[in-house]
This record gives sequence, C-alpha cells and structure tokens, in this order.
Amino acid sequence: MQALPSPAEAESLIRRHVPRLPIESRPLASLAGAVLARSVRAERDQPPFDRVTMDGIAIACEAWRAGQRRFRVAGTQAAGQPPQSLPSGACLEVMTGAVLPPGSDCVIPVERITLVEDFAEVDPAAAVEPFENVHTRGLDCREGDLLLAPGTRLGAPELAVLASAGLPRAEVHAEPRIAIVSTGDELIEPGEPIEAWQVRRSNAYALRGALALRGYAQITEDHLPDDPRILAERLRQHLENHDVLVLSGGVSMGRFDHVPRTLRELGVTEVLHRVAQRPGKPLWFGVGPAGQAVFGLPGNPVSSLVCLVRYVVPGLQAAAGLVARPPEPVALGAAFRVKPSLWYFLPVQLDSNPTLGTVALPRPTRGSGDFVSLPGTDGFIELPPGPAEYPVGHVVPLHRW
Ligand code: AMP
Ligand code: MG
Repeated sequence: MQALPSPAEAESLIRRHVPRLPIESRPLASLAGAVLARSVRAERDQPPFDRVTMDGIAIACEAWRAGQRRFRVAGTQAAGQPPQSLPSGACLEVMTGAVLPPGSDCVIPVERITLVEDFAEVDPAAAVEPFENVHTRGLDCREGDLLLAPGTRLGAPELAVLASAGLPRAEVHAEPRIAIVSTGDELIEPGEPIEAWQVRRSNAYALRGALALRGYAQITEDHLPDDPRILAERLRQHLENHDVLVLSGGVSMGRFDHVPRTLRELGVTEVLHRVAQRPGKPLWFGVGPAGQAVFGLPGNPVSSLVCLVRYVVPGLQAAAGLVARPPEPVALGAAFRVKPSLWYFLPVQLDSNPTLGTVALPRPTRGSGDFVSLPGTDGFIELPPGPAEYPVGHVVPLHRW
C-alpha cells in the first residue's frame, strides 16, 4: 500500500489544487483582512514635504551659529497651510505637521522657548542642528516606490499605506463563498428535543467560529442525512452556489460514509484521501467541476476542527493568493510521548516559562471524540511520527484554533 502523505505534503497538495478566487475592486473602508491582488506604489514622496515634527519655532541654523538667541515671531505656519517664507533674522511659529518654512532649516520645540511680547527667547542649552525636529521629504519612500505587493493581507498598517497612496479603492481577491455541510443521521440541532442515542450537532458551530474569527463572513450552513440520494441532490446545489464546501462527517470507511463516492459522482475530482496523522486521518479533499474546493472533514469533533485549522485555512489563504507563512514555532513545556507512527496533533495550552519563554503545555484529549477537553486550549502542536519521546524545550509548529 502506498504511504499516506504527511500533513505538510497534504497541505502543499491542497495549496496547489485550490482554485484562485476572482479579483474585484472594493472601497477602502471594506478592505480589512482582504488580500491585495495588485501592486500599490507611492503616489508622492513620503513625507511629501519637509514636515515639522514638534510644535515650536522654525529658524535658520545659521543665525543660531552666529550667536542669535532672540527671534522676532514673524507669523504662524500651521498644518495644512501653503508654505510661508521665513523673513531674515526672524522665526515663524510652527505646528506639528506643517511645512517647514522655506528659509528655515530647524525647529526648536516650544518647551525650549520663552515668548516675550513678539519675540521668542531660546534656551541657550537647546540642541539646534540642521533638520532637528524635521521629517525630511522623501525620507520614508519616494514617489513610485513599491509599497505593497500582491498577496499581502491588509491589516491596519497596510490600510494606512493604501490610503496614503491616494487610492479610494483597491483590487483584492473576492471573499470565498463557503458552505459548511454537516452529515449524519444521529445529529440533533441545539434546542431540539434529543434521545439518549442521538448526538448534538456541534461541529458546524466550531467550524463556523474558526472561520468567522479569521474574517470569513460569507458562510452558509446545511445539515444532510446519511442518504446518498439526498446527499447528491443537495451537494449539487451547494457546488453551484459556493467556491468552497466544508463537509463534516461521512468520509471514513463505514457503510454509511457516502461522502467521497457521492462527490466523485458529482464530478468532484479526488486529490487527497487520508493523511498520515492522528486525529483526522480520513481527511478528503477534491476539486469540483467549476474549480470549487471541497474538503471532507472527519466527523469526530476534535478531528474536524484540527483538519479545518490545518488544511481548510491554508487552502482558503492560497485561494486568495496569500503568500504562505512559516508555521509559528513553540517549545514544549512538558515532555510528551507519541506512540503511533503517525503525525500527532496535540492540543496545547500556552504558558510562560521563566527560562523557555512561551511554552506549549500538552492537553491531550481522550480520543478524537473528546472535544469537551478543548476549551481553554490555544491550539495544537504538530509532532512527528512516533514512537518517540519529545523533551521539554523541543520546538514544534503551533496551529492556533
Ligand atoms: P463520521 O465521520 O460521520 O463517521 O462521524 C464520526 C463521529 O463524529 C460520530 O460519533 C459522529 O456522531 C460524530 N459527529 C459527526 N458529525 C458531527 C457533528 N457535526 N457534530 C458533532 N459530532 C459529530
Ligand atoms: Mg457520520
């Protein structure tokens, strides 16, 4: 039998096969979290003029060097006003953000001066050097410089840069339309009466939460019985209306696990079935006839959440053209023994350790059905196949919930 792919191999297969989301133009105020599809270049030099960085007075350093300590206040240069020239031998009162008046080359902060009638008397101990308290034109970037590259996620700093480039809109990858579809005859919605042999439908809420916390908002949900006819009918509709399907349950080897076969019959090409990992080994991934990404997550609650974080999230990022980042490293805060010869996803709680810094404390569950142990954990770490004992301080990738 062919060896199953490792988690890293499975992730890269998924990244390679997910379709690229279309590009659309959106207004600046709606771009938080979006992924840029085109380069953004500087509209002007930044700062665009020699910018005063302290409230005070602007003078010519030459006058100071010649021994002048008392300056007539010839006027005021406020932020947003066109530049006024400095009369010879005088000073101009200046405000933070104003243009440095032509003829001056230095700003003395207000704390260093005493105003006596129309004159500013400067503390002789003041540091007066050319371009002191001035942010000079073009220091940060030049007109036309590349500020943001395609594939950049727009967080707070990037949004400020985008606005500074004078762009009211930007071209970004469209948000994916995601369907979360849980399957299983045993599952009962919270709020509905339940029998002893039935189970609460909980996965969809965890999966939706993990996606919502990452900014994905276009999410619809459905629940389907283990009936191949109904599965086929509804999955066909979901494929028509979504870019991404996230299915939970029905991908294992049981007689009622109809999901892989039904998807194949609907023209979804299987790319991956099963990964050398625990939990979440039965993971299924395929690509639909119109390029839809279809993830079949195992139904066990720990497995489905781990697989969402480990595979669906990177897949969504790749679909938006987001450049992959290396995983976040963390040190083990307690030794841990892995028995199976499979990659092991271990829930952890982060803690701070006086010598190791941030560490991951193992919080193993009692199997992949035990999601009650997960609250309070921060995510999971990825341990290479056992049997092996990993010591305190061993550095491993962390995946946050
Ligand atoms: P399956 O992958 O369909 O074989 O399901 C494996 C286990 O996960 C079974 O015990 C299911 O009852 C449980 N399960 C499946 N889907 C969900 C769900 N949406 N919420 C909670 N438990 C689930
Ligand atoms: Mg099932």
